[in-house]
Amino acid sequence: MLPAKHSAHDFKKLMERWQAVSKHARLAGVPLGDANGLPVWGLETKSAADGESAIYLSAGVHGDEAAGPWALIEWAESNLPRLKTEPFLLVPCFNPVGFTHNTRVDGEGLDMNRRFHSRKARHMTLWTQWLKARYIRLGVCLHEDYDALGCYVYELTASISRADRALKETEMIIPRDPRRTIEGMAAKRGVIQRERIPKGIKGPEALVLTKLGCESTLTFETPSELALGLRVAAQKRFLEAVCGV
Ligand SMILES: [Zn+2]
Repeated sequence: MLPAKHSAHDFKKLMERWQAVSKHARLAGVPLGDANGLPVWGLETKSAADGESAIYLSAGVHGDEAAGPWALIEWAESNLPRLKTEPFLLVPCFNPVGFTHNTRVDGEGLDMNRRFHSRKARHMTLWTQWLKARYIRLGVCLHEDYDALGCYVYELTASISRADRALKETEMIIPRDPRRTIEGMAAKRGVIQRERIPKGIKGPEALVLTKLGCESTLTFETPSELALGLRVAAQKRFLEAVCGV
C-alpha cells in the first residue's frame, strides 16, 4: 500500500514494513552504520550470503527521491516466496537523514552518489566490505530526476542489455524520456548505454558495483515532478521486469 501523502518521507513506517518482510522471508540484516541516529541497513537472503550469484537492489541514496524506497518495499512484499529462496542483496534506504528531511544530500550535506569509492566514508567502507564477499550478477539503483521528461535508464553492461525491454513495461505507466541528451550523455529512447566505466568518474554506486565485479548495472530514473503513486508504480514495474516476476 502506498504511503499517505504526508508520510512519503516517514522512515519509521518504511522500516516497520521492512522488519515484517525480513521476518517473513528470514532476511539477515547487515549493519552499514548509522546517520544522525538513524540506521542504514543492508539485507540479504540466505542463498546470497552463501555465495550464490545475486541481484542487488538499492534505493534512497538521494533523500528527495521518495519513489524508489516505497517501490522497493512494495516489490519485496509482493515477492516474499522469492526472497525466501533466491539470492538477493538489498539496501532499502541508503540515506535515512535525507529521506526524512526530503533532501538530496546526507546528514553531512554530501551527495552520497559521489562517495561510493571513498574509504573515508564509514557507510561505504562497510558496504564495500559486505559486497566484496558476495557475487553480484545484476545491480539496480533506483533514483529520480527533477528534470526528467519521462523514465530513463543508465545501463552499464558488456553483456546482456535489459534496459529497453524494461522500459517497454514502464512506459505503460510513465512514457520514456524523449531527450537525445540526458545529463550530458547520448540517450536513445530513454536508454543511456555504456559498455565500460567512463573515465574520470569514480563515486556513483553503479560504477563502484561494476568495479566490485557486478556484471551489469541499471540506474533507473523516474520524473520526480509526477504524482508519487505513478512513480512508485513505474519503479515497481521496472523491478519486476529486470528481476523477472
Ligand atoms: Zn538520485
